[in-house]
Amino acid sequence: MKELEERIRKDGRVLPGGILKVDAFMNVQIDPVLLDHMGEEFARLFKEAGVTKILTIEASGIAPASSTAMKMGVPFVFAKKAKSSNVSGEDMYTSKVRSFTYGRDYDILVPAAFIQPDDCVLIIDDFLANGFAARGLIQIAEQAGAQVAGIGVCVAKLFQPGYRLLKDQGIRVEALAPIQAMDDNSVIFADE
Ligand code: 5GP
Repeated sequence: MKELEERIRKDGRVLPGGILKVDAFMNVQIDPVLLDHMGEEFARLFKEAGVTKILTIEASGIAPASSTAMKMGVPFVFAKKAKSSNVSGEDMYTSKVRSFTYGRDYDILVPAAFIQPDDCVLIIDDFLANGFAARGLIQIAEQAGAQVAGIGVCVAKLFQPGYRLLKDQGIRVEALAPIQAMDDNSVIFADE
């Protein structure tokens, strides 16, 4: 998606450790027009997939999930993060996720009432790096017995392993801005 790629070039910042800062338009301050267009693009890409629900993870997944849900006319659910490692309960789906940005594990939780076995779930997130968040969300959908239509991410860093691992499992992954490589001076996108 050219609009997002141009914005990353203009306002994104590459930090050491393969992190792209997008605080100026996606993560802290949000450009609502760009957000709207990203939702539209995910909705276009997955329009034939029979999606009944969007699933994401707090906090930065909520904005793109909301925009996509609006465009697709379906609800979105976000998994909450919990620090404690002994969260359980029959009425909760849970999974363990390793944080890319903080390097520690946390649990994610979704009340069982909000995903049903007849749901077809589209997973949306802002970034795909090692794929831990996406895999945690897939596990939640599996616990519910729901189908996974695929994963839509605003930015996929193809030089980190998540994208390939998910594709190799036969999962459909759509990235609006697939990054091949990046350093202090440049970001190279895979689709240009
Ligand atoms: P993964 O679980 O795929 O390793 O990492 C994805 C999660 O980590 C996303 O939910 C996102 O919030 C965060 N993340 C990973 N890489 C980046 C990055 O380069 N920039 C930002 N802002 N967040 C990232």
